[in-house]
Amino acid sequence: MNWLVILCWSRRNPFVSIFLLLYYLSSTVHASSSPLSNSSIVPFSSPLYHSSDSLLREIKTLVGRHPDKFSIETMRGSNKGYLAEIVVVTYNHTKRQINKPKIRVLLSFGQHGRELITTEVALNLLHFIAGERRIPYYDSQSVENILDNLIIKVVPMENLNGRKLVEAGDSCDRRNGQGVDLNRNWSVDWGKKEKDYDPYEENPGSAPFSEPEAQIMRKLTSLFNPHIWVSVHSGMEALFMPYDHKNTIPAGLAGHVMKSVLEDLNRRHFQKKCLVGSGGGSVGYLAHGTTTDYMYDIAKVPMAFTFEIYGDASASQNDCFTMFNPIDKATFQTVIDDWCTAFITLFKEGTKMLGGAQLSVSDKTTFTWDHEDLHVEDNNSNNRDGLELAVQELRNYFRLFFLSTVLLMIMFCSRISKNKFNDLTLTLNGS
Ligand SMILES: [Zn+2]
Repeated sequence: MNWLVILCWSRRNPFVSIFLLLYYLSSTVHASSSPLSNSSIVPFSSPLYHSSDSLLREIKTLVGRHPDKFSIETMRGSNKGYLAEIVVVTYNHTKRQINKPKIRVLLSFGQHGRELITTEVALNLLHFIAGERRIPYYDSQSVENILDNLIIKVVPMENLNGRKLVEAGDSCDRRNGQGVDLNRNWSVDWGKKEKDYDPYEENPGSAPFSEPEAQIMRKLTSLFNPHIWVSVHSGMEALFMPYDHKNTIPAGLAGHVMKSVLEDLNRRHFQKKCLVGSGGGSVGYLAHGTTTDYMYDIAKVPMAFTFEIYGDASASQNDCFTMFNPIDKATFQTVIDDWCTAFITLFKEGTKMLGGAQLSVSDKTTFTWDHEDLHVEDNNSNNRDGLELAVQELRNYFRLFFLSTVLLMIMFCSRISKNKFNDLTLTLNGS
């Protein structure tokens, strides 16, 4: 349905069209909480991929082998009986201390259940960081020098419940265990829907941070206060920066620095084949309520990115496993090697840029972290997010009111001109 159709109807049956218009407008404003099920069930089994259990088990064993470098925690949250837990691995080389403040990096993988390759990159990146495998392109001493400047928190599987659904056979599902897209459940421009909105793909939940996974990630972010954030996805090859909800990049030095870091990665490691720029400007659609927009706008993370690490556009629409994950060993290994290497370059260049550009490294306070922080309460929210939501709702209702008023005025004018035309016709006929 578009505006022209509505305006044509308004001449014939204004009351029906008002109703239809209001319904249409309100449906673009309000979130739907009833996900549709149009998924195709494509069972998969591939020797290249770990199950969620075996992947997390391998990570725990790896951490146990390097107690001087790694620690691991599980953060838990719940909402109305729905439970979620997120494993967080921290790299911080405690034996080698440097005199300057360390750059804090937060990486998240597996926010969408069907993107299995991202969690394999997480596992391999940890192997590389631990020094158990050699990173292509870099010698081990250079890697150690780069890592000395960093504290890195890795979330290897943000959406464990959603991943379990995929492992149970629904390889097209990207949402969490309650049917919510975790990359639409954050507060920046939450709930707005585009014309091509697909509730199966993009259900934003009943409110910003309605989902425990998003609550946990928000709490992790506020405690850790990172300088660099990367959300790792698959479905295409791209290096994205804010914004997702509009077709622009941040103004000024911050946007310029982020873009130059991404262009450098694209040139060095991907033969310029990745799309680079704002998510909203490059991907072909706007996304509202995303994690990366929140990280940049609200959490004030100076470098906030979304990496899309693999996609097969030629795969059948029903074959999500092939669409989002490499299926042959050579491609699988290339994706792992290229992206793990790109992360090391990001750490190196990002550290340099953050220091050189004075991008809030010193004025971001250090983080606190203790055991009490590992559980997130039900319906956790803070006043700032509540205020943002209220302003956004107000803006949406004002937009609705304004459009309705314009339509009523058009109908009113149209009726007056029609009456005048009828009067004129009567007069002419009568004369
Ligand atoms: Zn994704």
